[in-house]
Amino acid sequence: MQDEQQLTPNQPVFSLSGKLALITGGGSGIGFDIARCMVQAGATVVITGRREQPLQEATNALGDQAYYMVNDVTERALLDDLVEQIEAAHGPIDILVNNAGINMKKPALAVTDEDFDRIVHTNLNSVFSLTRACARRMMARQRGSILMISSMAAYYGIDRVAAYAASKSGVEGMVRVLASEFSGNGVRVNAIAPGFIETAMSKTAMGGDPDRFARAMRRTPMGKFGQPDDIGWAAVFMASDAAKYITGVSLPVDGGNSIGF
Ligand code: NDP
Repeated sequence: MQDEQQLTPNQPVFSLSGKLALITGGGSGIGFDIARCMVQAGATVVITGRREQPLQEATNALGDQAYYMVNDVTERALLDDLVEQIEAAHGPIDILVNNAGINMKKPALAVTDEDFDRIVHTNLNSVFSLTRACARRMMARQRGSILMISSMAAYYGIDRVAAYAASKSGVEGMVRVLASEFSGNGVRVNAIAPGFIETAMSKTAMGGDPDRFARAMRRTPMGKFGQPDDIGWAAVFMASDAAKYITGVSLPVDGGNSIGF
C-alpha cells in the first residue's frame, strides 16, 4: 500500500519548519513553553489569551516567528472567525494546541452549577468548537495535527477537582472519537497529559496545601515537579512528522506520576 506520508532520507522529521501552530493560552505557563519549543523547532506560532499584555510580552520573547491574537475561547461563536483571520494573515494552520484551561479546587458539595459550567465551558466545550473550526479546514487539506492538553485528573481520582476532572475526562473521550473520524483524512488527534508542572495554576492548586504537595510527590517516581518545557518538547514531537502514525492517544508527561504507587 502506498504511504502518502512517506518520508525522504535525511528529512528532519522532528522539525516543525514551515508549519504554523495555533496555541491557545500561549501567553504564559505551559502554553508559552509549547510556543517556545515549537518556535525553536522551526514553527511559526500564533498564541491567544484573554489578556493582551502577557501576549505582547510573550511574542516579544518568542521573536519574529510569533504572533498573538486576543481571544477568549469561551466566546464560541467567534472561533470560526478567529481561525479565518489567522489563516488569512499567516496561511494554513497545521497544528492546533488546545492548551487554554482553568482549574478550581473545591469540595464537590461546595461546587455550584455555575462553577461547574464555567470550568466545563472553558476546558471542554470551547475545545470542541475551536477544534471543529480548525479540523474542517485541515480535513479539506488532508493534513493537520491537533493536540489537547489533558491532566492526571482524567487518569485517577484527585479530590476537590470534580468539574476539572470531568472536563479533562471529556477531552480524553473526545480525542478518541475525533481521531477515529479525522485520521483517515490526514488529521491526527492526540492528547498530552501533564503530571504536576510548575506554573501559576499548579502553584494555586498546591499553595498552602503541603499535604497535597506531599501526596503528589510521593506517587511521582522522579520525585519532582515537571517544567513547562517538558510538555513543550513532547508537543513538538507529537506535532512533528516523527509522530506521523500516532493518533488517538493520551501521552502522560508526568515523571511517572500516573504509574506511581
Ligand atoms: P496557567 O493558568 O499558567 O495558564 C493558562 C493560560 O490559559 C493563560 O495563558 C490564560 O491566559 C489562558 N486562558 C485561560 N482561560 C482562557 C480563555 N477563556 N480564553 C483564552 N485563554 C485562556 O495554566 P497552565 O499553564 O498550568 O495550564 C495550561 C494547560 O495545562 C491547562 O489546560 C491545564 O489544565 C493543563 N494542565 C496543567 C497542569 C499543571 O500542573 N500546571 C497539570 C495538568 C494539566 P489569560 O488569562 O490571559 O486568558
